[in-house]
Amino acid sequence: MNGEDAPRLVETIPDMRAASLEARTGGRRLGFVPTLGFLHEGHLSLVDRARERCDRVAISIFVNPAQFAPDEDYEAYPRDLQRDLSLADDRGVDIVFAPDREEMYPEPPQAWVVPGSLGDRLDGASRPDHFRGVLTVVAKLFNVVRPDLAVFGRKDFQQSVLVRRMARDLNVPVEIELAPIVREEDGLAVSSRNQYLDDGERRRARAVPESLREVREAYREGERSPAALGRRGRRVLEEAGAEVDYVEVVTPDTLETPPEPAPPESVCALAARIGDTRLIDNARLAGPTTL
Ligand code: AMP
Repeated sequence: MNGEDAPRLVETIPDMRAASLEARTGGRRLGFVPTLGFLHEGHLSLVDRARERCDRVAISIFVNPAQFAPDEDYEAYPRDLQRDLSLADDRGVDIVFAPDREEMYPEPPQAWVVPGSLGDRLDGASRPDHFRGVLTVVAKLFNVVRPDLAVFGRKDFQQSVLVRRMARDLNVPVEIELAPIVREEDGLAVSSRNQYLDDGERRRARAVPESLREVREAYREGERSPAALGRRGRRVLEEAGAEVDYVEVVTPDTLETPPEPAPPESVCALAARIGDTRLIDNARLAGPTTL
């Protein structure tokens, strides 16, 4: 495990605990990137960040049934462990924790990590129980992997806010770092779900980053009303034939609508369906962005 060997594949909780202890001997720092697998550049950028900051890096690959509603894509979600292992190897991952469903949930849980009101808005409004599933599995993974640092992507904006809050509220001894959104050349955020898009849908999906660019442009030109900014973004999506779930300008830590004039660090977050594929994205109103 020196970053040059192939990653060690670990499939059970006891083996992962042992691998973590070994990785952390002598005061070495362990970085961790939880994923649903089917790795792409977005995930791998988090691995790079963890490697920069830590001596050893573990990732988890687990399609967590608890965060999918019955009508969502749990069964169809793409899975390819061999491909993931090879990508992880290329990026110097030391440990790949890939438990099966039975290992993580030998019986239906009776104890959950349930978000407060931060989990009710935005994605939480259309995906009830989603964040309960996310926070519960992240807490379980933290307890098994025991990382010093965990890196999450800003792509899943509300998730990143909730995970940080959970770590604080539950005094989890882990540092949480958030990493920038990795995008395709045309601006679409890289996502495992992009592969559901056919060619026409993929072209229409450009409206997603385009709508965020429009919101930033409107802000640059002086629009300061959160509602008006949201409407500007929504229009771009609707013109592209996307079915908009929400486009909202929010304060990053509270997810509440900011007062007018909206401050530059407010975030415009959106979810929209292109065909059957639900895409999410977000950007600050002004300042650094990968758009
Ligand atoms: P997922 O496998 O979709 O659960 O994603 C695992 C982690 O990768 C989460 O912290 C995501 O926010 C992050 N992630 C996914 N896509 C991207 C992206 N395009 N840029 C940066 N981080 C990402």
